[in-house]
Amino acid sequence: MSTDSAKQEKLQKRILELEAQVHDLKKDLIHDALTGLKTRNYFEQESKTHFDSAISEDSGERRAKSSLKNLSFIFFDIDHFKKINDTYGHAAGDEVLKAVAKRIEKGVRKRDIVSRWGGEEFVVIMIGANEKSAIAKAESIRKGVEHLSFDNISKINVTISAGIASREKDVAFEETIKRADQALYRAKETGRNKVVSYLELKAGG
Ligand code: GH3
Ligand code: MG
Ligand code: MG
Repeated sequence: MSTDSAKQEKLQKRILELEAQVHDLKKDLIHDALTGLKTRNYFEQESKTHFDSAISEDSGERRAKSSLKNLSFIFFDIDHFKKINDTYGHAAGDEVLKAVAKRIEKGVRKRDIVSRWGGEEFVVIMIGANEKSAIAKAESIRKGVEHLSFDNISKINVTISAGIASREKDVAFEETIKRADQALYRAKETGRNKVVSYLELKAGG
């Protein structure tokens, strides 16, 4: 083999290695390694795009009733998760995270985006869903998590709390996300293992 073709072959091999690395990096940018859910970064970008296109529906009078205007965000947070880690270990905690992630994913539609927002916190954007249907979905997921069973965890009941905010005209993306987080905070404050929507919160419920 000539020196040139040996060099060529080496270069080709290196290119393939780099392509594989880029592929893995892209995957890591989109998918959370533990749960397989979408990353927060991906979620923020994609949900903002959906949000902006819902805003553009506001001005279309002909489609005033279009469900495309509806968007709802649900934040889920595992209750007393630290206690699960402390009692049964980090690996058991990871199993709980994976199972809850799966249950949330199972509970929403394919077109909705489910993301691991951080630690033991998840967020969903429900495309085309108003607050009422988001509450119903979150309730059914909350109940579903109550019924999950784990081989290694017997004494602690795994539960989640949820906070919901739906898009309202003239309310910005960041503010809507903040509202959902505030609703989650209220769910925690008022006992956990429950679903609170921003409108309920505002109404003093
Ligand atoms: P609250 O009901 O108020 O939400 O209480 P909490 O204990 O769930 O919340 P806190 O924020 O005090 O604890 C969250 C814990 O989640 C602390 C952190 O160590 C743990 N955690 C974060 N990421 C991971 C992970 O990837 N795996 C495991 N096993 N634990 C994690
Ligand atoms: Mg928690
Ligand atoms: Mg948390």
